Amino acid sequence: MATGLRIKTAAELRTNYLRREMFPTIFCDGCGIGNVLNYTLWAIDEVGLDLDRTVFVSGIGCSSRLPGYINADGLHATHGRALAFAAGIRAANPDLTVIVFTGDGDGAGIGGNHLLHTIRRNMDMTVILVNNFTYGMTGGQSAPTTPDGGFSSTTPYGNIEHPLDICELAKALGAPYVARWPVVSPAQPVKSIAEGIRKRGFALIEMLTPCPTAYGRRNGLKEIEQIWRWYREHTVLLDEWEWVEQFGSPEEREALRGKLKIGVFQDTERETFEDRWAALVARERL
Ligand code: SF4
Repeated sequence: MATGLRIKTAAELRTNYLRREMFPTIFCDGCGIGNVLNYTLWAIDEVGLDLDRTVFVSGIGCSSRLPGYINADGLHATHGRALAFAAGIRAANPDLTVIVFTGDGDGAGIGGNHLLHTIRRNMDMTVILVNNFTYGMTGGQSAPTTPDGGFSSTTPYGNIEHPLDICELAKALGAPYVARWPVVSPAQPVKSIAEGIRKRGFALIEMLTPCPTAYGRRNGLKEIEQIWRWYREHTVLLDEWEWVEQFGSPEEREALRGKLKIGVFQDTERETFEDRWAALVARERL
């Protein structure tokens, strides 16, 4: 796919954007969070973001370690509260670009209520939500995104809860930009993260990211090759998904079960909280 993506080498990214004293990372072999960091840095480079005017915010969890590796201001906040802190930063200084790293447990489980209300307010920030189907750092407990039947330390006989579709939720709440991609190839995630940063308003990019240690070893996805094949076989582009739902045979529709839609779910414009706040201040002469 031709995306116009100018790939930087690892050495260039390291020199320009990373805190070298923080390496090596804490990530296990085969973990996809390093890919998410890589794609984010490519997107930042693509956008030409001024890191002196950017704050990276995170909650708690493996992916929430990411701000520590980037050579910019960061806030490693409390569990589930990354969006509350990010909203505070935007309210205090709307000139800053805010990028949030959160996990599925942190952002959609413990912080689920903050997710709803930050989207509803449409505060201008980019949220990169690393979905690895589990609470990785705390021992592999079931998360709101754990697939049907998935094994975890709290669902040893298989998950019986219906998993949460974070992107459908964000779309329903009116987030101006919503996308989901697996980490298995860089082009679409980098493009979406860059589009999310450029978008005025709330942008959510959900990254389907392997966790071989806490989730994979309980679900036959410990080896890197197996994991990446699973992501290729269990994701379906939105257009294709919608076509099958509308025109597919019963067998083709049945084959969608247990799979995940990927692509750009929403790309629209909506008045932001910051715009409305500025209008109110001007109107009431506050
Ligand atoms: S526990 Fe899972 S998510 Fe955490 S670093 Fe290891 S592989 Fe990655």
